[in-house]
Amino acid sequence: MSEPGPDRLVLPGELLGTAEEFVPGRGTYEDSGRIFAALLGHPKIDPSDRAIRVDALNAIPRLSENDTVYGRVDEIKTAMAIVTIVSAASTGRGVPGSPEGTIHISKAKDGYTETLADEFAPGDVVLARVIQSHPTVKLTTAPAYLGVVAARCQVCHALLAKHGAELECPRCGHRERRKTAAEYGQAFVPATSTGPADGEPR
Ligand SMILES: [Zn+2]
Repeated sequence: MSEPGPDRLVLPGELLGTAEEFVPGRGTYEDSGRIFAALLGHPKIDPSDRAIRVDALNAIPRLSENDTVYGRVDEIKTAMAIVTIVSAASTGRGVPGSPEGTIHISKAKDGYTETLADEFAPGDVVLARVIQSHPTVKLTTAPAYLGVVAARCQVCHALLAKHGAELECPRCGHRERRKTAAEYGQAFVPATSTGPADGEPR
């Protein structure tokens, strides 16, 4: 993986590296020889013992309408995608309680959406705008600057790269569709064992 910069942000469940590369530290967990972030924050590596930890972000008080947020897609239903909101895009700060938000099928993109499974997949990181904050959080990804900013291959879990209107897996060649944000691949550079090229925008 690349050495994380001071501003790099990782999401819970994001791959940080392998157990051969690092020793799992605070804010991380190991599963099947791979080390993942356990919380939203900044990854840090101690060069003396190769311990990797994640320092948690401080929380922001609450969500407001028109806030732009990062979220993780948890589930795709017929009429909506269920998203866990993890941080405010403007500050990068975490949202207390990681509230759940929904993207209705009519708010996924401009124009008609036949099936949400063509726009999102579980595990995707989305940039979305809050259109209602109470009593439930409703989100939109319709504008061009909103949508999926990081997605993993459904076959091999490598980070997908954008090729024109499609996403393609640099490892296995699998092609997938998403409603991508203009900044796809730029907001997050997830750690991979194959080096930083995986996360670079094309
Ligand atoms: Zn793949």
